[in-house]
Amino acid sequence: MLIFLITAFLLVVIIQWFVESSYFERSAVAAKDGSKSSLYQITPLPYAKHVIIISLDTTRADHLGCYGNSWIKTPNLDALAAQGYLFENLYTPIPSTLASHTTLFTGRQPRFHGVPNNSYYVSEDNILLTQILKKAGFTTLGFIGAAPLRTKTGFSRGFDFYDDDWLIDPAVDVTPRLQRSAAAVTDSVIAELEKIKLPERLFLFVHYYDPHYHYLPREPWFSDYNDVDFSGMPYSYNSVTPASREGILFQKSKVGIVRRQYASEISYMDFHLGRLFEYLKKKNILDDAVVLVTSDHGEELGERVRPTGHGATVFNIESHTVGILRLPDTHGGGTRINAALGQESLMPTLLKYLSLKLPEHIQGSPLELGDINAFAGQYPLFCEATRWWKGDVPKGISSWPNMGKFRSIRGVRYKYMQSPQLGQDALFDMQNDPLERKNLLVEPSPEVLKMRQQMGTLLKEWSTRLGTIIPQKPSSEDINEQLEQLEALGYMKKNL
Ligand SMILES: [Zn+2]
Repeated sequence: MLIFLITAFLLVVIIQWFVESSYFERSAVAAKDGSKSSLYQITPLPYAKHVIIISLDTTRADHLGCYGNSWIKTPNLDALAAQGYLFENLYTPIPSTLASHTTLFTGRQPRFHGVPNNSYYVSEDNILLTQILKKAGFTTLGFIGAAPLRTKTGFSRGFDFYDDDWLIDPAVDVTPRLQRSAAAVTDSVIAELEKIKLPERLFLFVHYYDPHYHYLPREPWFSDYNDVDFSGMPYSYNSVTPASREGILFQKSKVGIVRRQYASEISYMDFHLGRLFEYLKKKNILDDAVVLVTSDHGEELGERVRPTGHGATVFNIESHTVGILRLPDTHGGGTRINAALGQESLMPTLLKYLSLKLPEHIQGSPLELGDINAFAGQYPLFCEATRWWKGDVPKGISSWPNMGKFRSIRGVRYKYMQSPQLGQDALFDMQNDPLERKNLLVEPSPEVLKMRQQMGTLLKEWSTRLGTIIPQKPSSEDINEQLEQLEALGYMKKNL
């Protein structure tokens, strides 16, 4: 019996030794490769006193220098990216302003936060990032660039100060119509911070709207981009009667004007972001803060079905968003993360970094910023459109207003999309065809057909999932006011 026990004990010790030694061996090999080796190398992160979130409405990631764009000038965003983490593959689950921002502030996908589009109410059943930070002792200041995020949507809950009074003040620099220029937004932030004593802990949210339609030819950038050759750029928008907005005829020969205007708005916004960063640095706020810069969705620019705008498709031009995270002391500066990430994970990532408790029932999951190399990506990622592709709205739509619109599921390499309205689908190899130009279902191999079946099943399952929050429209009085405002912003134009 004793011999048996001794033998068993020795056996356990030997197995233990073997497992551990081979494990360390594997770790050592991995460390030599420089890959996924950080299990024992979690870097201590610097403490952040303040939190700054900057939202760039309608800004396509591929239009920034730090994302590889070669002709659009964005020196201030590029410099910030060089001092922080850059998420190369960050995606919104919904290409529409209020819905996407609600995901950013709740960590929830749209079907669970209950905001399917603009002009809905952000239910009080959602716990917003602002509310959590306020409870944790932050002074919360918000500044917005346009009406979709206005107070009446409920999005401003938790802010001590929310700068949207200018929407009803005709004296403010509102250009053109109900959007405020980047110059005015930056001026407003600086003026407010000059007025108050810097709080112990500050949460600052700043929303810029310039790249959203209507585009203006911002100088000197509009002229600077005059020599850019646009002939090779993708363009699919094709209408028998070219649509017209603001005197620009949307047809292929005019695509350069549209692109130059859009690009000049991004450079103009970057210039005024530079002023903001400089001010925050001078006031010793920037280096004590965690700064997140992101965009809520992209823009069509004639590459698919619309000459301008967003919301009708789930191609990367609409779903791929900007993601830059700068920590105090420029910790981790220059790190680029290629693995895909959903917008819903930004809020839990910030909360985890700040050592704050995550709310319940969220779909996003926090990234370990000290061990970012171990992040393998968040798959599958879903996305849904908010507008009908074109033509008549089909009948028999369920309680979720986006049912029947374009939707997609993305895996590590492939992306499958469907339009129930059109009865069409497509599968793209995102590794070899990032512009989503070659639909593999046109001449499908048996493997491709199998993938369509598997991803189609997952997408169908996902599309039947709904949370408990029912989409709420604001009161009829608010709706009329919102309709007027959205019309002024160009959302309600029927001919585009
Ligand atoms: Zn937007």
